[in-house]
Amino acid sequence: MEATLCPKPHFVVIPWPATSHMIPIVDIACLLAAHGAPVTVITTPASAQLVQGRVERAGQASSAGITVTAIPFPAVEAGLPDGCERLDHTPSFDLVPNFFDATMRYGDAVAQHCRVLTATRRPSCIIAGMCNTWAHGLARELGAPCFIFHGFCAFALLCCEYLNTHKPHEAVASLDELFDVPVLPPFEFKFARRQLPLQFLPSCSIPEGRLRELREFEMAVDGIVVNSFEELEHGSAARLAAVTGKAVFAVGPVSLCGAPGLVDSRACSDDARRCMAWLDAKKANSVLYVSFGSAGRMPPEQLMQLGLALVSCPWPVIWVIKGADSLPDDVHEWLQHNTNDDGLPETQCLAVRGWAPQVAILEHPGVGGFLTHCGWGSTLESVAAGVPMATWPFTAEQFLNEKLIVDVLRIGVSVGVTKPTEGVLTGDKNGAGRAKADVGMEQVKKALDILMDGGEDGEARRTKAEELKAKAKAALEHGGSSFMNLEKLIQFAG
Ligand code: UDP
Repeated sequence: MEATLCPKPHFVVIPWPATSHMIPIVDIACLLAAHGAPVTVITTPASAQLVQGRVERAGQASSAGITVTAIPFPAVEAGLPDGCERLDHTPSFDLVPNFFDATMRYGDAVAQHCRVLTATRRPSCIIAGMCNTWAHGLARELGAPCFIFHGFCAFALLCCEYLNTHKPHEAVASLDELFDVPVLPPFEFKFARRQLPLQFLPSCSIPEGRLRELREFEMAVDGIVVNSFEELEHGSAARLAAVTGKAVFAVGPVSLCGAPGLVDSRACSDDARRCMAWLDAKKANSVLYVSFGSAGRMPPEQLMQLGLALVSCPWPVIWVIKGADSLPDDVHEWLQHNTNDDGLPETQCLAVRGWAPQVAILEHPGVGGFLTHCGWGSTLESVAAGVPMATWPFTAEQFLNEKLIVDVLRIGVSVGVTKPTEGVLTGDKNGAGRAKADVGMEQVKKALDILMDGGEDGEARRTKAEELKAKAKAALEHGGSSFMNLEKLIQFAG
């Protein structure tokens, strides 16, 4: 008798509109499609190209199963400039509440679309970005399970769960007093309140009501999808499942879903080609890569201290600088004289002011170390490429990630940053009111020396990083932990 094949469930994936969030959630969509599940990715017109680029990068096996649907984003109606459809494109901090408002209205339009979609292709499951709080009501209306994707690793989510439940940060006398977050014994983790994600800070800019909504959403969902792999998390995924009572699916590292030879369309710019050609001329493991995520900026004085450390170090450096246009004239001039973007082989410090092809850079054999802000996307891309890190957390959950990188995994060297790095200018850009640098040039150099050092410790870090790279790859291969979790996720949704 012929077995009847059950059609795989139809996933509707709704990214939270922020660049670094969209990249991994669309890659998750690609992996689901590669496992045979049909997927609809709902995005906004201005982001459709980014989404389509990721889908194409994943190759035919994924792209055939994915429909990308662009639904207009009510930016103007919410008081945002026309075309402002991603959080990181919001022109000023004051407009962030408007952006949240726009995403709530966007939820109505998405719901309307899904109701229509039901007639032809009923959504079986929704995977929504963590601030798309309306997705849970929509999923219930459609009779489908709802999963959340935060973009955080399981370890950071576990720490947040502990903070939400035990509130140790509310019992300290100051923002700098250290307290324990004992989530993964025998490791001991101490944090100061100022190092925690935004929602745990007393001066949180997100309104109370919105914070409550976000928490209610994460408590209501049926499961959590994580861009990570179990072997990396030292049991955090299982602990997170136990403390939340929810299914947790670690399905990464999703950056590895790209088909060999296919690159992100944004990585094909002249800048990117120059960067890769420059790297080709370098010795194995000799280059330091410096980048602080999709939007990470530092105050001008801080940038200068970092710059002084970078231009005085003996290794060739690729330095990705965001927001270079808004730097004061003197810092701008200093950069012009001390860095270069020509990509000539003799250039010692190659500055990239646009979008760097990060995954390709990290995978290049010339790269021997990564100075990172510990954003989870960057961290995992570094792990997947086997590159040890120097850690300079800026904000959000990055101080939590630093502990995983340095203390648990032992593939990183901490720069020793204790306070968040704020990218805002104080005073006018050339004025006297410029914030002082918290981290001096010598402190940066010391960490970089240790990172790039060929001594015993450096060797141990590189070996550990290589081991994790192999485990990362194996996790996604047939029968690997992330492969099996993708299968379980599909079963759960079916
Ligand atoms: N990224 C990139 N080129 C850049 C800057 C960032 O490709 O010039 C990508 C990077 O590979 C990662 C994401 O943007 O996938 C940044 O995510 P992460 O979580 O590290 O940091 P965030 O931007 O959220 O602070």
